[in-house]
Amino acid sequence: MSSNSGIQIPSRLPLLCTHDGVLLPGSTMRISVDTARNMQLVKSRLLKGTSLKSTIIGVIPNTRDPEHDSEELPSLHSIGTAGLAVQVVGSNWPKPHYTLLITGLCRFRVTQLLRERPFPVAEVEQLDKLEQYTEGDRADGELGELSQRFYQAAVQLVGMLDMSVPVVAKLRRLLDSLPRETLPDVLAAMIRTSNKEKLQVLNAVDLEERFKKALPLLTRQIEGLKLLQKTRKLRPDDDKRVLAIRKGGVFPGRQFSLDEEEEDEDGDDMAMLEKKVKAAAMPEAALRVCVKELKRLKKMPQSMPEYALTRNYLEMMVELPWSKSTTDCLDIPAARVLLDNDHYAMEKLKRRVLEYLAVRQLKSTLKGPILCFVGPPGVGKTSVGRSIARTLGREFHRIALGGVCDQSDIRGHRRTYVGSMPGRIINGLKTVGVNNPVFLLDEVDKLGKSLQGDPAAALLEVLDPEQNHSFTDHYLNVPFDLSQVLFIATANTTATIPPALLDRMEVLQVPGYTQEEKVEIAHRHLIPHQLEQHGLTPQQLQIPQDTTKEIISKYTREAGVRSLERKIGAICRAVAVKVAEGHKVSRAESPTEQHEDQNTENKEEDSGIASPPEMPIVIDHIALKDILGPPVFEMEVSERLTLPGVAIGLAWTPMGGEIMFVEASRMEGDGQLTLTGQLGDVMKESARLAISWLRSNAKTYLPTNGSADPLEGTDIHLHFPAGAVTKDGPSAGVTIVTCLASLLSGRLVRSDVAMTGEITLRGLVLPVGGIKDKVLAAHRANLKRVIIPKRNEKDLEEIPAHVRADLDFVFASTLDEVLNAAFDGGFPAAVSHPQVVSKL
Ligand code: ADP
Repeated sequence: MSSNSGIQIPSRLPLLCTHDGVLLPGSTMRISVDTARNMQLVKSRLLKGTSLKSTIIGVIPNTRDPEHDSEELPSLHSIGTAGLAVQVVGSNWPKPHYTLLITGLCRFRVTQLLRERPFPVAEVEQLDKLEQYTEGDRADGELGELSQRFYQAAVQLVGMLDMSVPVVAKLRRLLDSLPRETLPDVLAAMIRTSNKEKLQVLNAVDLEERFKKALPLLTRQIEGLKLLQKTRKLRPDDDKRVLAIRKGGVFPGRQFSLDEEEEDEDGDDMAMLEKKVKAAAMPEAALRVCVKELKRLKKMPQSMPEYALTRNYLEMMVELPWSKSTTDCLDIPAARVLLDNDHYAMEKLKRRVLEYLAVRQLKSTLKGPILCFVGPPGVGKTSVGRSIARTLGREFHRIALGGVCDQSDIRGHRRTYVGSMPGRIINGLKTVGVNNPVFLLDEVDKLGKSLQGDPAAALLEVLDPEQNHSFTDHYLNVPFDLSQVLFIATANTTATIPPALLDRMEVLQVPGYTQEEKVEIAHRHLIPHQLEQHGLTPQQLQIPQDTTKEIISKYTREAGVRSLERKIGAICRAVAVKVAEGHKVSRAESPTEQHEDQNTENKEEDSGIASPPEMPIVIDHIALKDILGPPVFEMEVSERLTLPGVAIGLAWTPMGGEIMFVEASRMEGDGQLTLTGQLGDVMKESARLAISWLRSNAKTYLPTNGSADPLEGTDIHLHFPAGAVTKDGPSAGVTIVTCLASLLSGRLVRSDVAMTGEITLRGLVLPVGGIKDKVLAAHRANLKRVIIPKRNEKDLEEIPAHVRADLDFVFASTLDEVLNAAFDGGFPAAVSHPQVVSKL
């Protein structure tokens, strides 16, 4: 440490305020930094600075830096230690912080605080000028005597330790090489002393006083050691416990600690944790790990980064519901009533859910399939999941899987990483606090994949009843029994669910709603719910059925009811303003009545006075336009079908069914086909197929002007509007044929007909999927006739009777039948358009 003597610290120092621990010159200490100013200091001074000077900072003990930058800095302890930051380690766990390794250089006194933000900087006066002692006056007077006594005590202390331990031997050598006057600081930092005592040593600027303060501490430690060695002789097997190296010091003796306060606190904490571990009723494997970690933790100095990690781990382990569960209270008739009350329509789904619950009741150890609700957004998948939890009397937890592309999200990070944590399953269990909740795995179709492993594979382990009784999260590293958890999954489409995962699940389709169903849902559930959310009553706001219908057809276009709910919410907000304004006026008029009347009848009268005269506010056509603006969707079907070369197809998307226009135009050219509108390969092939079929059947269907090929000298452009949406699939085949037939014949397609079906080169119509959603879309768009493949006839069973009654279905097995149904008067008809013919 003689190198210290030459050190000249800068006259201005940035200050690091510490609360626990006192840094003494000549010792090294870890300081955890997490308050705003200290963090700033580390960031802008230590991490940016390049010179040696920039790594020297002033450490002020006994002052907690306020958490927030804006708060006042408390008054600072006047003496601090200038220190050299030897190492900076950053971590984000459990919250952002740095750990600094600092070696104390010398004392300083704060003469003037120059600034407080972003971190305090002060003008300082260096106090230890070590060189003045090192020469000459070593043995002089009282100081010399004191330093000699101190040195001897230090030698005695080290002599009592086991010299075979390398660090002890090193310390012995150090005692001789260090200047005597540095010994009080160095030894006070090493032996077991409380912060208060260290602070006294730091405050002793005068060297003589410093020796006087430090000597009793050293003697106390020697006495402690003597006592320890005596007992050791009595109980030889306690050997191992003696040399616990703690707090960066070399000295032993947890059980002989003289540092009461700190030790007690620590001990209490540990005892609490130990108690919790015992109370957590975990399986043996987990208990064993916990006990081992607890032992390790006890030996670890708190400033070690691993301490926090181990502690967090143990706290996680004790909080997990290893054997805590709720009792199922399943009563099938009650469950039926509850499901019916919560949800309108969705009969098939509710029936299947009841079956599932009934089986569970009969056989509690169910290893059945996982239910997976598949349907467009806003059709109530999540809300059915929640109802299931309620009927069972279980806790409910939703795990959103959309965009999860790292398997550690499911299975946790190994504990070797800084910031590692358990996966969502274990975290969910910790949140609900029982081991048999209902877990809703939302959006399993949107799982991603990345270099960090496939989350679907991890989910397989979670969902597989054969494996999930010993699910091992990487963070916990001990198995957790998930077999009591009831998993339900939701998805918009099965197409993107990984096949292995799909295999474990029973898919229940939840199709979109018809307009009538939506009106019912709105009046039974959405409007009362929104009224309640906005603090309104039916006496204040009424939405008639006609208005709801108008919202559904002109302001929303969706399979579910989510944006319908939002629109109703918007109406409620607008009305809430009106009602609140009304209240204000009346309050001004009769303030006493408003406040004092507690009884409900009077309250009602009150609201009569309070309400503006037009209460309840009834939302009619005009009010609707005022609140929601002009209609967003107009029925433009008939307008768009005023020219030949346009036909309406039916498409299925994860959002539900939709109607889709197909447009075609022709121009002179050399027989090229142009396709636009973001089409996939299958769609492009359908278009080519349609053209080939028309060409080969031109004689039968199309007016020709003598040449065998109606497309000779003509380019065709096919466009599928809504270019932002990628479209693929074979089901547009019949629509493309109809559209081209219309273009080439110059005849208009019926404006109230929509169609779907795959075609073959020979003119057959093959079945397609998503019929229910598609038919509902046609019904929503007010179309009257729907052409579907004959082999899809059976799918109509799922469609509500009133929708079926509104529509005229044509079941086609050949393109002949399709064209006949799509054109008024059948196809071909003897009508020909002269101008079109002339172009050919
Ligand atoms: P999803 O999970 O299918 O996207 P949600 O379950 O979040 O949809 O449903 C959206 C909203 O619609 C919820 O407020 C829900 O209560 C309501 N809802 C949907 N379907 C029904 C129904 N059949 N009966 C009553 N409310 C419904």
